[in-house]
Amino acid sequence: MGALEITLGVISVLLTAVAVVMVTRTVRHMLRSIRLGQPDGSRKGPFGARFGTMLKEIGLHTKMLKLTHVGIAHWLVMVGFIGLSLSVLEAYGEVFYPPFHFPIIGGWALWNLVVEFLGLATIVAGVALVIIRQLNHPRRAERQSRFAGSNFWQAYFVEAVVILEGVGIVGLRAFKQSSGMLDVPAWAAPVTHLLGGVLPASYAAVSLFAFFKIVSAMVWVIVIASNINMGVAWHRFTAFFNIYFKREADGGPALGKLKPMMSGGEPIDFEEADPEKDVFGAGRVEDFSWKGWLDFTTCTECGRCQSQCPAWNTGKPLSPKLVITQLRDHAYAKAPYLLAGGKKDMTGEEVGLTGDDPHAGIDVLALAEAERPLVGGPEENGVIDPEVLWSCTTCGACVEQCPVDIEHVDHIVDMRRYQVMIESNFPTELNGMFKNLENKGNPWGQNAKDRLAWADDLDFEVPVFDGELGDAEYLFWVGCAGAFEDRAKKTTRAVAELLHIAGVKYVVLGPEETCSGDPARRAGNEFLFQMLAQQNVEVLNSVFEDRPARERKIVVTCAHCFNTLANEYPELGGTYQVVHHTQLLNRLVREKRLVPVAPIADDVTYHDPCYLGRHNKIYEAPRELVGASGAQFREMPRHADRSFCCGAGGARMWMEEKIGKRINVERVDEALGTAPSKIATGCPFCRVMLTDGVTARQNDGKASENVEVVDVSQLLLSAVKRAPRQPVAVAAGAPSVEDGPAEIGGEAEADGRADVPTDTVPSGTPQAEEEK
Ligand code: SF4
Ligand code: SF4
Repeated sequence: MGALEITLGVISVLLTAVAVVMVTRTVRHMLRSIRLGQPDGSRKGPFGARFGTMLKEIGLHTKMLKLTHVGIAHWLVMVGFIGLSLSVLEAYGEVFYPPFHFPIIGGWALWNLVVEFLGLATIVAGVALVIIRQLNHPRRAERQSRFAGSNFWQAYFVEAVVILEGVGIVGLRAFKQSSGMLDVPAWAAPVTHLLGGVLPASYAAVSLFAFFKIVSAMVWVIVIASNINMGVAWHRFTAFFNIYFKREADGGPALGKLKPMMSGGEPIDFEEADPEKDVFGAGRVEDFSWKGWLDFTTCTECGRCQSQCPAWNTGKPLSPKLVITQLRDHAYAKAPYLLAGGKKDMTGEEVGLTGDDPHAGIDVLALAEAERPLVGGPEENGVIDPEVLWSCTTCGACVEQCPVDIEHVDHIVDMRRYQVMIESNFPTELNGMFKNLENKGNPWGQNAKDRLAWADDLDFEVPVFDGELGDAEYLFWVGCAGAFEDRAKKTTRAVAELLHIAGVKYVVLGPEETCSGDPARRAGNEFLFQMLAQQNVEVLNSVFEDRPARERKIVVTCAHCFNTLANEYPELGGTYQVVHHTQLLNRLVREKRLVPVAPIADDVTYHDPCYLGRHNKIYEAPRELVGASGAQFREMPRHADRSFCCGAGGARMWMEEKIGKRINVERVDEALGTAPSKIATGCPFCRVMLTDGVTARQNDGKASENVEVVDVSQLLLSAVKRAPRQPVAVAAGAPSVEDGPAEIGGEAEADGRADVPTDTVPSGTPQAEEEK
């Protein structure tokens, strides 16, 4: 051990001591900050399931591999980081005494092979990540880059250290080999042997490379300790916890049902709730739960969420990534004020910091941050712009993609809840929708007595619940759109006719049905949702009074109603076997109770409704139905879990879309790219939005006049009714076999009217009576 080794060793130890002190302080501050969030006891267990999910998602990179090449490179870097941390530890011995190696394993050929592989893999994967970042750089792709808005110096720094660590390992081992200190066979260290063969023997070089490894690692630690917001580095530690504590204990993404409105760690009870004491959604950053804070801390700024977001992709200001990073930056900037006991009441008066000099010792920047409203425009210096907040369609694409299981939709809706219920500050267009729901029980403001108008001219009787379910197997939940919206009514009629043909016994509720509450809930009006949902649960429980749980069957045509009834009503005491009509029809086809003998001659593409697909993972049944109808199926580039929203979810159906390209038009452009004659879907909201989009493109001369939007059930009905000897009661007025092939859409189009263009009225606006 010479002077050089001692000098380098001492510097290494001192630098390490500084890094350890700094990172310990930062971790302590991070933990104290995360604990500023609200309690949430729903994430505790079960340990085995949660731990298993964490191991799977991290070890197998199941979510990362949605982008395969990035996933592979990242996996190598991750494994390198874990494995090579041991190698950095070994360097503390090597810097003082170059021949040093770990006792026992240090001389093992297998261990050496692993280190050799990880060192090289880290360099290759690090370079690959740099190249990927360059190829996707905003300077090339601008807004379309998933890195647009991400912090670049932090990412470059992390990637540089990854590569340098790899170089340090390879260099150190090569000089050990050239100096005769590495006694392992060539197969266990092929590159080391190769390089060592041409390098001179040098004790000093080994010590220098060990020093280089330690310094690069400790500089990395010091930099991240100085930048608590550096998610691109911190996620290496926090991602484990974020995935373990994800909302769904079974490992699924935070989709389907929404997180209930919580206060004090429990779902809020509106009968007891007090806005002065209880937390109503998120009006301040400390209103998010500790898991929310952990989410903010963990975001890696990878931009996968942003790349899928329909709002971002159509020029809106909303990026789920930027929502999370803005909340993170605000949270940690405000944390010193909160940790000092700062607290404001509902009027904005300080109630936490009192005394002669209440702000003593608190950073002025933290005090300034505490003055910022969580939601507010630039003139108010708000953290989240209202245009951002209200652009979200709650489509769930961000949640589906996020590799560290961040729960964007729950956070966005929590902010909406506070804006609606406490601030009464929301887009004016929602006023009408809320009033209609309150007064009429449907967003269109129609009379309950007209809920059965869709069945008026059917040639068979639609059974209505009259107090007895009798031998009915299903309750057919029609939904507000299915009852009142002209285009959606065609779906309702098609499904009713198919059930009739197949001999399925069902009843409808008619005037007893009320909106499921989905638009109110996604718009943040939790109170109204609870009201509607409780009313429905009461009705449904009385309908199914005598039935055991497994026989409480409901079939639904609306993806939003499906999601709400299946996933959200159980928390309110309503547990039913809910199926989507595409699932039931598919089963009836398989059971040969519906026989689509005559294939339809159409090229059909299928749009996955977000609330059927991503939120409930129903992708196959509607596609199989398209196939069963005999149509030529054409898949859009963005489909299944990467499907692109139609723009109607999250109560956006009732809001104006003033910024950027209309989401429905963007989706229709993609659909038209498959050259379809029909665009099929499985949700009345999607159907309305896509029809509006097609109409807009037809008016522009960019789409054939023959392109039509239909529900999957209409395709099936057409194929069934075209069958020569189908044992069915053919609807009066519907074309018979002798009349030639029926129009696609079958009975649904039997009124002789095509879908009514609605480009002159916003989506969701009730059509005038004469248009119906
Ligand atoms: S839910 Fe959809 S619209 Fe909302 S932020 Fe996520 S990707 Fe964007
Ligand atoms: S929220 Fe998730 S997907 Fe989006 S940038 Fe952060 S880590 Fe990536």
